[in-house]
Amino acid sequence: MIGKVGELTIHDKLSRIAANLWWSWDPELVEVFRLIDTERFAQLHNNPVQLLTEYTPELLEQRAREAVLHSRIHWSYRRFVEYTTSESTWGSTHCGILGQAPVAYFSAEFGLHESLPIYSGGLGVLSGDHLKSASDLGIPLVGVGLFYHEGYFAQAIDKEGWQQEKYPRLPMESLPLTQVENGDGPVIISVETRQGTISARLLHLAVGRINLYLMDTNIEQNSEEDRKLTARLYSGDQRTRIRQELLLGVGGLRALKAIGIIPNVIHMNEGHSAFAPLEAIRERMHDDALPFTLALTETSSRCVFTTHTPVAAGHDRFDSGLVEEHIGPLADSIGLDHHGLMALGRVDPQNDSESFCMTVLAMKMCRIANGVSSLHGVVSRQMWASLWPWRSAEEIPIGHITNGVHVPTWLAAQMRALYDRVLPENWILRSGEPEVWSGFETVTPGELWETHQSLKNRMIAYARREAVEQSTRRGDDSSIIEDMKNVLDPEALTIGFARRFAPYKRADLILKDLELLERLITDVDRPVQFIFAGKSHPADENGKRLLQRIFKLTHEAPFRGRILVLENYSIAMGRRLVQGVDVWLNNPRRPLEASGTSGQKVVLNGGLNCSVLDGWWAEAYDGKNGFAIGNGRTHSDQHVQDERDGEDLYRVLTEEVIPLYFKRDADDLPQEWIAQMKRAIRTLGWRFNADRMVMDYAANAYVPAAGGLSCSIVSMP
Ligand SMILES: *Cc1c(COP(=O)(O)O)cnc(C)c1O
Repeated sequence: MIGKVGELTIHDKLSRIAANLWWSWDPELVEVFRLIDTERFAQLHNNPVQLLTEYTPELLEQRAREAVLHSRIHWSYRRFVEYTTSESTWGSTHCGILGQAPVAYFSAEFGLHESLPIYSGGLGVLSGDHLKSASDLGIPLVGVGLFYHEGYFAQAIDKEGWQQEKYPRLPMESLPLTQVENGDGPVIISVETRQGTISARLLHLAVGRINLYLMDTNIEQNSEEDRKLTARLYSGDQRTRIRQELLLGVGGLRALKAIGIIPNVIHMNEGHSAFAPLEAIRERMHDDALPFTLALTETSSRCVFTTHTPVAAGHDRFDSGLVEEHIGPLADSIGLDHHGLMALGRVDPQNDSESFCMTVLAMKMCRIANGVSSLHGVVSRQMWASLWPWRSAEEIPIGHITNGVHVPTWLAAQMRALYDRVLPENWILRSGEPEVWSGFETVTPGELWETHQSLKNRMIAYARREAVEQSTRRGDDSSIIEDMKNVLDPEALTIGFARRFAPYKRADLILKDLELLERLITDVDRPVQFIFAGKSHPADENGKRLLQRIFKLTHEAPFRGRILVLENYSIAMGRRLVQGVDVWLNNPRRPLEASGTSGQKVVLNGGLNCSVLDGWWAEAYDGKNGFAIGNGRTHSDQHVQDERDGEDLYRVLTEEVIPLYFKRDADDLPQEWIAQMKRAIRTLGWRFNADRMVMDYAANAYVPAAGGLSCSIVSMP
């Protein structure tokens, strides 16, 4: 029997749930989908939409009966409805001023789930975590982005260790995306350039209570060239780039208007969307008949800008011709001549040789700007001081809000069960508050260690499966494939390094002294092993060479079996790694890592960070909650800096990390190590947490930008 007339079947209920990414951060639902068909769900990369197309209502009924899932599904559905409709939230009490006009959160990438690979790295995952926490907190916010139907890219590593990029088309039909339509069919928005018009349709994605709108130019109204405009993230030339950014900023605001949303606040997450305020100015001038200067003042008072990197290449610059071709029509309609337009993107408005910088535009267009860690705030104030030549360094109006991660997304289910036992009930809804975490002191060392060991074993099993699969796909000799079944030693101190292979992150720092490295990993009593993963940008030959160098080592004795490189780093792989490593290694060239977030995911799961004192770690490390590489100073000569950091990395590993890990008591427990794990979780869990981060944005940026009083606390100078 499928259910009474008018009643939702379990297939209906699960389909509704699968259409909203909320399930992905609800451990109970992840478990339900897994129990329906463990193997198939894994094969489908944890995609429930696809799973439910394969399980017809009848099949699902049968399976649910076998696995006794009915009451769990009904209960989950009730929680889902409660979650999405509840009106008493943190946001409803703290962000009333945002009322019916939400914050529009613009980002070029969103990293929400492995089935939707429209992110390249930390920036995207941060945007995804921002939406999820805004949802949990009930903050009126809507996300705006682009839909890349070929994603960033899928990485394969060939036998030579060279990165190959593949661009599989995303299977639209099995993604929880719906085309936005009005009475007359799909909503289509368009933006003019000097060379014609670019049009896009809108796709909607439900992220808990938050709506995310993604623009897609692959529609028949467009030229062949423009149909491919949104195919790929961060690929293509400058012209593609400015066209994508025109669409993101200007098109994004038009898209919201087309569906009846006039945002109260515009949050530009990185400079890619900095054209949005120009469109907002145009609207004010057109709709409310304001003169330009007044429209500019009013618009900029409602704009918030977050800058994410001190790396020069991370700040888009366009030449005057490209700007004229793409922003010319908009400039005309707000009465700006070409010189006036260019001036908005130049540090020195009079300097005709300066290119147009999106970060400069964003800075000039917003009242509130911030970096993403305390140190990055300092660095950004220095970096952009020339925009305010009459001010001293401390008076530069760029503050900071330190990044954080979405706890329910990154916390392993077993570890969460442990938290559930010792933290207050409903702690997950209050995880951004320090008091909530103090209960973690009461966890017994044995219990914490056992949970960590089980997660570590699970990760090693996963890494072996992946390694065998990847090696097979690569066409390796059968002896290599056979070896992969047993790579990594569960007893060895396991160090993870996974992130984008951008040169400043120095993935090869540990390779500086191969003899020392060999000694570390061949030590019989205190063995150490490494897992690497990460993509290099397709145009970054240096990054690819770096990856190749590490990859080749993995096939050489004595490193074989003790250093593993996994290809195609993703959110799914990241989850496994951050949940299972003993130590997370992070050795960027200071101060170029604006924040970094992967180490924060590791903290939650009981791993310890071993990191250069850069980004978030510079404010998190207290001497008893992990390890520091270097002394927090920067040398002006990059080679000297690299030499010093390399030496210090070996020093920290051999003098601090390894001895502490292998110092065991009579029960084989590393008591002092466990004490550090506990301290890290208790003191860092609430701070480097996306709920805390979004509450900071709400209090210090959104509410003031919407015209309310800044209600509190931290961060903005
Ligand atoms: C968290 C995360 C990142 C960010 O890593 P950093 O160490 O902060 O650079 C990048 N990629 C993925 C898939 C992640 O989950």
